[in-house]
Amino acid sequence: MNNTLIVGGGPIGLNLAARIASEGWQADVLEEHPQIGKPVHCSGLISASGCEELNLNVSDILLNEIKGARIYSPENKVIEVRRKKTVANLVDRALFDKMFYEKAKKAGAKIHLRSKLINVKNNTVFFQKKKRGEIKKAQYVVGADGVQSKIRDLMGINIDKNLFVHAYQEHVEGYFEKDMVEVHFGKFAPGYFGWIIPKNESTAEVGLAVTLGSMNPAEAFKKFVEEKKLGIKTVSKDSALIPCGPPLKTIMENNMFLVGDAGFQTKATSGGGLMLGLQSSNVLADTILNNIKSKTSLDKYALNMNKINKELMMHWKIYSYYQSLSEKALNKLFVQAQNAGIEQFLEEFGDMDKPSRFIGKILKKPKMWSLVPMALKILR
Ligand SMILES: Cc1cc2nc3c(=O)[nH]c(=O)nc-3n(C[C@H](O)[C@H](O)[C@H](O)COP(=O)(O)OP(=O)(O)OC[C@H]3O[C@@H](n4cnc5c(N)ncnc54)[C@H](O)[C@@H]3O)c2cc1C
Repeated sequence: MNNTLIVGGGPIGLNLAARIASEGWQADVLEEHPQIGKPVHCSGLISASGCEELNLNVSDILLNEIKGARIYSPENKVIEVRRKKTVANLVDRALFDKMFYEKAKKAGAKIHLRSKLINVKNNTVFFQKKKRGEIKKAQYVVGADGVQSKIRDLMGINIDKNLFVHAYQEHVEGYFEKDMVEVHFGKFAPGYFGWIIPKNESTAEVGLAVTLGSMNPAEAFKKFVEEKKLGIKTVSKDSALIPCGPPLKTIMENNMFLVGDAGFQTKATSGGGLMLGLQSSNVLADTILNNIKSKTSLDKYALNMNKINKELMMHWKIYSYYQSLSEKALNKLFVQAQNAGIEQFLEEFGDMDKPSRFIGKILKKPKMWSLVPMALKILR
């Protein structure tokens, strides 16, 4: 029995299934929804560098190319980072998931729709398929079942509610600068921020997140739109939780594994989980395949996640640092960073997935030395 059962037909679970099935091993995916990619709870913004690293060709599902970001402090101090070349790709998230579905199917993985995980007892997985109880035996059981993971619950891992943010997003019509995203800090989004991600000049994903339980996110969104005078027209809306914490220490136990949002392999600074989640699923695929082929220890999963965890941890430390500041201190930091030349620095060294590539560099650039206390607090 060398089969892998993956709970969750999101991009992370499907990529894992594709990797395992492409080497000729059995991979089954349980997905509770009747179709892959729906409903969508995501803006679909992914780094261009991540796409390159993962060899992902997104040209068929590309909606927009983003060149930079404008970040607003609570008092509207602005840091603008703009590059000549594309920094991030905005993709159609439903088609993104379908791309991984096709890849998994083509590789020979079996994807079971309308199939909801109920329980796991050792190697036996209990699920409900079209309302009928079924069981499957599996050597490896993977929770790629998202932010509210059932597998994580079954592993006995409890997460503090403060480590989730509640996001609310609207697809809207309005007027937008096509190749710039906006990030807005302010009282309207306690514990997080608001965002504007343009699809083109006249449509965008506009949203925000708040610490879970701090405020109703739809009410917070109204305040954000009013305060920033966004002048937008709602086309559709959605709301979901996002993991916002350090990567989980326990991501495997016996034959059960966590990957993607289920394992908090999500960037705390932005809520983005696609790129590092996909990279993590490649690490898990290698671990399982090496265990099947040469009995290499499954503990290697946690060990081989070290490099990605270092980045996830850095996202968490940056997030924790700026969340610890008062509004006044955050405004002050914006001004200080502007004066130190942060815009040119980030244009040169910024990386939306891998902050370790630039945080350490602050220490080496004399012009940036006024930010050294901040860098040291983050790095400690
Ligand atoms: C408003 C919003 C905007 C976002 N924008 C971005 C962005 O721009 N860029 C980015 O990188 N990330 C973004 N994210 C985060 C991103 O959506 C997640 O990180 C990503 O979806 C994680 O992928 P996953 O495969 O781990 O989980 P999911 O995509 O959540 O997939 C999990 C799957 O498991 C299924 N499932 C759950 N429980 C069961 C069960 N018991 N049985 C069977 N199936 C089950 C679910 O139906 C789902 O299909 C955003 C999130 C939100 C909420």
